[in-house]
Amino acid sequence: MELFNQPAHELKRMMDTGEISAFEIAKSVFKRIEMVEPKVEAYVTLTEGQAAAQAKEADAKIKKGEGRGSLFGIPLAIKDNMCTKGVLTTCSSGILKNFIPVYDGTVVRKVSDAGLIMTGKTNLDEFAMGSSTETSFFGTTRNPWDLETVPGGSSGGSAAAVAAGEAIMALGSDTGGSIRQPAALCGVVGLKPTYGLVSRYGLVAFASSLDQIGPITKDVTDCALLLQAIAGQDERDSTSVDINIPDYNKALVADVKGMKIGLLKEMMGEGIQDEVKTAIKNAVDVFSKMGAEIIEVSLPHAEYALSAYYLIAPAEASSNLARYDGVRYGHRTSEKVKDMIDMYMKTRAEGFGNEVKRRIMLGTYALSAGYYEAYYGQAQKIRTLIVQDFEKAFDKVDAILSPTSPTTAFKIGEKFENPLQMYLSDICTIPVNLAGLPGISIPCGLSDGLPIGLQIIGKPFDEMTVLRTAYAFEQAYGFKERPKLD
Ligand code: GLN
Repeated sequence: MELFNQPAHELKRMMDTGEISAFEIAKSVFKRIEMVEPKVEAYVTLTEGQAAAQAKEADAKIKKGEGRGSLFGIPLAIKDNMCTKGVLTTCSSGILKNFIPVYDGTVVRKVSDAGLIMTGKTNLDEFAMGSSTETSFFGTTRNPWDLETVPGGSSGGSAAAVAAGEAIMALGSDTGGSIRQPAALCGVVGLKPTYGLVSRYGLVAFASSLDQIGPITKDVTDCALLLQAIAGQDERDSTSVDINIPDYNKALVADVKGMKIGLLKEMMGEGIQDEVKTAIKNAVDVFSKMGAEIIEVSLPHAEYALSAYYLIAPAEASSNLARYDGVRYGHRTSEKVKDMIDMYMKTRAEGFGNEVKRRIMLGTYALSAGYYEAYYGQAQKIRTLIVQDFEKAFDKVDAILSPTSPTTAFKIGEKFENPLQMYLSDICTIPVNLAGLPGISIPCGLSDGLPIGLQIIGKPFDEMTVLRTAYAFEQAYGFKERPKLD
């Protein structure tokens, strides 16, 4: 198999035995990028020169017997909403199209400390608002499994890059599903950690009470390795939590015997494509054959999750995005302006795309005097009810299964003009963000050549059980398909 198609743990083994060098891996990935990037368009910025130099440096270190970290010399793509010192960080927005940060975000620094080599910055929906990458200022990324369909979003570039072999692993961010849904649509593994496990410092804020960075990888083993590299408290993010970080590698045991696994009733009904339901039922059978006890669980308030999310997330976004005013960051209008307010207005009208403007308006309205209690206040109450629903469900089970996305990848343009349809892409993932829980998506089948994702949800900070359940399924099910791009 070509190097670009191998998972990181396999490449590490080959490097350890001296079969291959970090430079050869980087070369293989960049050759692949040259071949398929014109079709997939996963990246906003490529950092090939820097990556080649780093790979050579890594090889020199290995020769001297230094630098044998678990991910040393592995090419990694980074979603373009994480600040990278000296490298363009656009959030796929016109307003930040020339923005070059002067510092690395904590996670970016951590992956670099772990020896990972950045391949470039991947495309996303503008400011991570969307489920298809279609709202990107730089154009749509295409799904490597079918170039006429979307890769999901907002981390569509990261998921497509990993699926297409344009990166060995990638970082995404997830506010309402943006790691898991594109992972599902692209047939790769994506994990949203518990809120607070990973630092958000240097992640451009969308909805601060929901945003989390996490891994997008080819398999569960790589997911555990990358999570290990990025997890942990950070004094620069007061919402990051001080807990002992376990050895995630220890979760990789293919054994779920005696485990209690829940199946979410509300997410197996209306609105879920039949093929998706069938694949999830098959996955449930795989778990029972392995000796897990399957128990139906319910989230009675799940039906309100989407509405609550689309008040809370835009409310927080409207406040976070107020900083793009043409003064400190990014674009400023070159039109003649009357005064400062006029400058703000013209800058923002020119710099933001339609979806971002819609969210700013929704959020500003929801927070305005007289409406705050009726909208934002109510939404926060629903959030609490959803947290309680999950707590009750987790009294009975160790992990919960559901589809990740209600459908397989949809056609480019199909939902673009219909925001509500687009928002419905996240009905299975959003409750998990509202409750701050960890959730992974792993491939569990194909329908018409398009991947289906299984979501596994865990208790707060119980990534160990999430990974273990996912690993057991992966070993038993053995999804090995790759998109045929050549
Ligand atoms: N698709 C959802 C939204 O548009 C989630 C995005 C995300 O997780 N960043 O808000």
